Amino acid sequence: MDAQDDTTEPSEVLLLCTQCGPTKGPQPLSAFPKAPGRPYGVRKTCKACKALDRAAKNAANPEKHQAKLDYIRQWHAAHPTYNQEWEAAHVEHRQQWGIDYRAANKEALQESMHGWRASHAGHISEYNKQYAADHPEEGRARNQRNYPPYYAANKPAFIARARLRRLRLLNAPVLETFRDEEIFERDKWICQICFEKVNKKLKWPDPGSASIDHVIPIAKGGSHCRQNVVLAHRICNSSKGARNGTPQQQRLF
Ligand SMILES: [Zn+2]
Ligand SMILES: [Zn+2]
Repeated sequence: MDAQDDTTEPSEVLLLCTQCGPTKGPQPLSAFPKAPGRPYGVRKTCKACKALDRAAKNAANPEKHQAKLDYIRQWHAAHPTYNQEWEAAHVEHRQQWGIDYRAANKEALQESMHGWRASHAGHISEYNKQYAADHPEEGRARNQRNYPPYYAANKPAFIARARLRRLRLLNAPVLETFRDEEIFERDKWICQICFEKVNKKLKWPDPGSASIDHVIPIAKGGSHCRQNVVLAHRICNSSKGARNGTPQQQRLF
């Protein structure tokens, strides 16, 4: 139309494509191929219709289509650096295109990424393992940065998890999970090996501190459950080792 139309923000202008308009409804100017000199500087048919038209024409005349492809290939062979030069000269344009494309297709891209991650779970974990092995200093730095305060805030959970890991390594039957404190309270802070009081204030690795003792040792086929654990001084627990015949075992049976 006239120059006034050029000052309108493209996002505010909606046009009907002469082909798909009745079904698709109005579309923004960005959906139409550029055509300088035409109203709004765009063609009457939208990009999607143009692509369909082109595909139909190519299918109807495969020889002409092949000739066109050959010509393009020859042209690029004669101008080998053209693409690189164009890309180098349009870095910002390409970046902006990427930003716009990702913004317009955010959900589809996310879905595609989730799908890829789900179907490549093994690949991803292999990659992560390899990366961790190749960059041990990064893991150490992360631990030093994050671990101490997190550990301090979650100590009982850390201890419980470490024990479960140890038990799993021993192939021990883990029938229940519980906090140490629950067992200490149940046994009223009395060591079930020497039957002396356990001082609540003593902490690991103090030999007098509280520890969890498996009545039937895991090594002898005992399982990890409330019924098979008692409170014991660390020193009493470690001196017992995996031996049999302690008083509380007889008590249990
Ligand atoms: Zn259209
Ligand atoms: Zn004891």
